[in-house]
Amino acid sequence: MQNRVFVINKHGKALMPCKPRKARILLRDGKAKVLKKEPFTIQLLYGSTGYKQDVSIGIDSGQRHIGLAVTSQDKVLFQGEVELRQDVKKLIDTRRIYRRSRRNRKTRYRKARFLNRIAKKKDNWLPPSVASKVNHNINWIKRLLSVLPKADLHIEVGKFDMQKMKNPAINGEGYQQGDLYGYQTVKQFVLARDNYTCQVCKKKGGKLKIHHIIYRSLGGTNTVDNLITVCSNCHTTKNHQTGILAKWCKDKKKVNKSYKGATFMNILRRRLYTAFPQAKFQYGAWTTLQRADLRLTKSHYNDAVAISGIRKIKAKPI
Ligand SMILES: [Zn+2]
Repeated sequence: MQNRVFVINKHGKALMPCKPRKARILLRDGKAKVLKKEPFTIQLLYGSTGYKQDVSIGIDSGQRHIGLAVTSQDKVLFQGEVELRQDVKKLIDTRRIYRRSRRNRKTRYRKARFLNRIAKKKDNWLPPSVASKVNHNINWIKRLLSVLPKADLHIEVGKFDMQKMKNPAINGEGYQQGDLYGYQTVKQFVLARDNYTCQVCKKKGGKLKIHHIIYRSLGGTNTVDNLITVCSNCHTTKNHQTGILAKWCKDKKKVNKSYKGATFMNILRRRLYTAFPQAKFQYGAWTTLQRADLRLTKSHYNDAVAISGIRKIKAKPI
């Protein structure tokens, strides 16, 4: 099966997506015209009300890739992936250098005006590189919404729910599998935060353990502030008794507060909440489980398929 083609009727209302074969015939017979290339959308030139079914959109938002999927009942109608540009900062830096040198060359008078940037003083200002990524995320969701009849919107905003991570009483949808699942998520977070690096010997990879800074025997909890990544070579009985781990326990060692990418995802999450208040939001740890249930391999669009909330897949583009 291939991706469906999005269809807009004569009056600009979205209909159900159709099969590419049908779209080809309509275009050949002059009954439709191409409206947009991405995503491929045609507009009918004759009146049609069409039938409508429940449609769900799944979005795997991110700062490098966006996964997109449209599902209806047990069918995946559309799946895709957008790669976001990563060169905005570099281009702006280059522009700044050109402008500076132009002022110094005096080939043309250009006032020094590095201090009068009004836009920066506004509350919702974002650095250009971040703004570009945030806007692409928002625009792609809008694009899909505009070519579909009333659709349910599901968005994944980052891997970890920091609110739930900080609060040991984990509950709510996605955490129904009990404490063990909650603890699995917390462990995944600690590994990601410490960049999969032993915090004693600073070696990356290897056999990593999650160590309780304040030992469990001394009342240490399973919260992220009390957990740290230590490799099996450093996680020894000796270190626990008299070595560095004993010292950490006594000093109540502080862990890194944030992990890479958390800042961006926090900004993106807030902007998406504002732009799409009707959407249902969820986190990556939950998506991973759902994707495994559907027996899909790991990719951004497969994540998006899982995010859309589909329960069983009968037909899916390859
Ligand atoms: Zn180590």
